[in-house]
Amino acid sequence: RSLPIAVLTRSIAGCITEAFKADSNPKKINLGALLSLSPTLPYHVPSSPHPGGPKNAQLTPSSPGVGAYRDDAGKPYVLPSVREAERRVIDDKMNKEYAGITGVPEFPQAAAKLAYGNDSPALGRIAATQTISGTGALRLGAEFLQRWHAGEKKIRIPTPSWANHKAIFQDARLEVEQYRYYNKDTIGLDFDGMVQDLKSAPEGSVFLFHACAHNPTGVDPTPEQWKEISQICLQKKHLPFFDMAYQGFASGDSDRDAFAVRQFIRDGHKILLSQSFAKNMGLYGERAGAFSIVGEDAEEVKRIDSQLKIIIRPMYSNPPIHGARIAATILNDPKLYTQWQAEVKGMADRIITMRKLLREKLEGLGSKHDWSHITSQIGMFAYTGLKPDEVEKVTKDYSVYFTKDGRISVSGITSDNVGHLAEAIYKVKG
Ligand code: PLP
Repeated sequence: RSLPIAVLTRSIAGCITEAFKADSNPKKINLGALLSLSPTLPYHVPSSPHPGGPKNAQLTPSSPGVGAYRDDAGKPYVLPSVREAERRVIDDKMNKEYAGITGVPEFPQAAAKLAYGNDSPALGRIAATQTISGTGALRLGAEFLQRWHAGEKKIRIPTPSWANHKAIFQDARLEVEQYRYYNKDTIGLDFDGMVQDLKSAPEGSVFLFHACAHNPTGVDPTPEQWKEISQICLQKKHLPFFDMAYQGFASGDSDRDAFAVRQFIRDGHKILLSQSFAKNMGLYGERAGAFSIVGEDAEEVKRIDSQLKIIIRPMYSNPPIHGARIAATILNDPKLYTQWQAEVKGMADRIITMRKLLREKLEGLGSKHDWSHITSQIGMFAYTGLKPDEVEKVTKDYSVYFTKDGRISVSGITSDNVGHLAEAIYKVKG
């Protein structure tokens, strides 16, 4: 039986890419095609695709390959440490047989150590498994919550959040509610709103936090604010679910980027954690990720482990091996690990430098606006604060393409094009 599903008409990222390709201006810049799709309209599903199916269902897919890092020439980048690890994996002439349900044996606990720290008080009571990158980890965590969370089957995510979060959790039949996070007026964190929402949620609620480099705003709580958030969560017995997709990529320092996760553990929380190695190792298409849950003791960890396997086995049996072998080789070899850390810092520093340059150039042109948010935000994305009509004008008059909400992918900025970008923004915004 074929389902009457209307085909994709055109994605928003696709529109930007097409318009960008058709533009003959040699100075054109694409800062939008790498972004997630807006959650409106990319697909149309008829109101009742099949009897008993959801009415007016709307899919909210994120385009694959979103948010990828580019080097200063605008090209994809394969880290030399990854090339070296891959060479070793190939030289070892390993077989291609299945990994176990929880993946390449050397990988999950090494990934956990990267997140929780080598001397974490949680070591020994972390149930960890390899997953199909960060998305798979979130999906697994969602399914675990659906089955085993004792309270309401609901998760609270920030406003805004990565476009895929809502879809992932809803697909696991969790209700998704949003808490206040971003303040449009200050282009910064709505800390008071966030605290109020944490306090007014029922005891034992599940809260999703971006561990660092909040996507899409680039706005993170400060360490002091994280401490306060952790204390409120303790008082309210909330269950924190951390999504860590950018460890090391945010500040250039993996330990610093893990501050929130480690602070929560120091404070005695049991947490859920999703990790992705897509950005920090540039392993996007290899789909290397990990999911972990901190348990009460070794006995509880055994039970959690067993339940994770029960969820994974019928879902995808076991994860792909190549990317995890590469990641495990890097994580478990001190020399290669040090090299990798320097390379992650190189990527983070390039992003930070482009932010600085953009701000300096805007100020240099005489702009009287406050552009401090460009440099205070971190990670791959920046909210410029440009209004939809201003974005349209920047695109039309200067061939700079990005989404209408004013969000740019900083990794699309290079030493060569930053001048043109600043000029375009300045001419439109002043
Ligand atoms: N979480 C956030 C906040 C992200 O931005 C991403 C990717 O863009 C992911 C999770 C998952 O990415 P992947 O499934 O490629 O690891």
